[in-house]
Amino acid sequence: MLEIKDLHASINGKEILKGINLTVKPGEVHAIMGPNGSGKSTLSSVLTGNPAFEVTKGSVTFYGKNLLDLPPEDRSREGIFLSFQYPVEIPGVSMVNFMRTAVNEHRKYKGLPSLTASEFLKLMRDKRAVVELDNKLANRSVNEGFSGGEKKRNEIFQMAMLEPRLSILDETDSGLDIDALRIVANGVNLLKTSENSTIVITHYQRLLDYIKPDIVHVLYQGKIVKTAGPELALELEEKGYDWIKKELEE
Ligand code: ADP
Ligand code: MG
Ligand code: MG
Repeated sequence: MLEIKDLHASINGKEILKGINLTVKPGEVHAIMGPNGSGKSTLSSVLTGNPAFEVTKGSVTFYGKNLLDLPPEDRSREGIFLSFQYPVEIPGVSMVNFMRTAVNEHRKYKGLPSLTASEFLKLMRDKRAVVELDNKLANRSVNEGFSGGEKKRNEIFQMAMLEPRLSILDETDSGLDIDALRIVANGVNLLKTSENSTIVITHYQRLLDYIKPDIVHVLYQGKIVKTAGPELALELEEKGYDWIKKELEE
């Protein structure tokens, strides 16, 4: 479904991604781990079309389409979803209006009619349950005054509403206490099908106790330097990242 080949990307002339290769198939869960500053968030920004980054080399296809040709909103309509490491507050835009616009835009793209008000409210209700999101939050402006944990939960709520084909979760675990972590992970697991895929970006192994990855990658200095099964996450938890740096130096 997703094929990244030799992807290089820069910001302000500084190269951050230095040749990423990654293939994700339907139904797979990939974890991308790596020390701070490796380029994990940059990769998610480039995949979703953040214009601050310039792709200087390589290709990304999503179901055969050249993703790099599409503006961010069309990547979303194609079914790519990013849960931000740092979700933004959008004062004055209510969650209800925000979600209704997003859901109906996605439906229009698929040639489906807009949801009626009651259908939409039922969808909101059903999906709020997935992440146990309080109705009060759903009636406020997007993320405004939400706690760190509530913002992260709200990201997964939005994911539940849009039913993406590829979800990228950028450090969704940061700022979550253990109960919120369980709720968020449970939400992600409930949304899993054999058709959709997830890329879980995380610094810590902890989240992967709840969201089981099929494949674990280590991103370091803009490259994927190691790929293995779930056992790699446990090894990183135990030994940190220094041994990988040493291995590379040798
Ligand atoms: P990670 O998510 O793995 O912690 P990032 O992708 O956030 O890493 O950052 C990778 C590198 O890119 C870092 O050296 C960071 O300083 C740099 N970087 C990220 N965003 C910007 C930016 N807007 N301007 C300049 N440098 C940036
Ligand atoms: Mg970071
Ligand atoms: Mg990051």
